[in-house]
Amino acid sequence: MNNPVSITGSVDPATHLVLPMLLLLSARLDPKLVIPLSFFALVPDFDSVIGVHRATLHNLFVVAAVPIIFIVWAKLKDDRFVLPGLIVLFYLMSHIVLDLSGVALLYPVIPEAFYLRPSLGFHTEPSLRFDFSVEYGLEELEQSSDYLFISNLGFAYLFLLVLLGIVFRKEAFAFLCSAKNWAVENIRKFLRRPPDAQ
Ligand SMILES: [Zn+2]
Repeated sequence: MNNPVSITGSVDPATHLVLPMLLLLSARLDPKLVIPLSFFALVPDFDSVIGVHRATLHNLFVVAAVPIIFIVWAKLKDDRFVLPGLIVLFYLMSHIVLDLSGVALLYPVIPEAFYLRPSLGFHTEPSLRFDFSVEYGLEELEQSSDYLFISNLGFAYLFLLVLLGIVFRKEAFAFLCSAKNWAVENIRKFLRRPPDAQ
């Protein structure tokens, strides 16, 4: 009996949001940056939401070139924005990586979609074995198909996030309090900044 498991596929917003966020949190980056900036992991799907072609925001010019220009600007002008810029780059790139089952990476220069479809096969007959294969290439760009809001996988990630919130409830509560203070302090600082400050 063959049980091929597809690693990539149609990825829903819940997975796009939670998977890279958990990776960054597990890398012990500041949750005050990681959690609010996770919004950027959903940004490429705004093309489908506003009804333009899925290639419009799902390409390297948008997800890599724009944040890299911002990071270079931050490096030269204001160091404080370098880390947030890198986190945004990570979130945007993670979206494209999760969508690699078919994405026009170099749109509009190359209008075809690049696809990378790894699959892991598990066979029990004639003997127990796994096989791994990767299919890749270029194919014609498909018009957006049905968009699943939360898939089973997305539910699993959301469940994992809730579970982590319960396990680390003390930390989560402390985080919410410090995030509130941090936001209030920064808004005050921002408002107090003299208008001629460069
Ligand atoms: Zn997408």
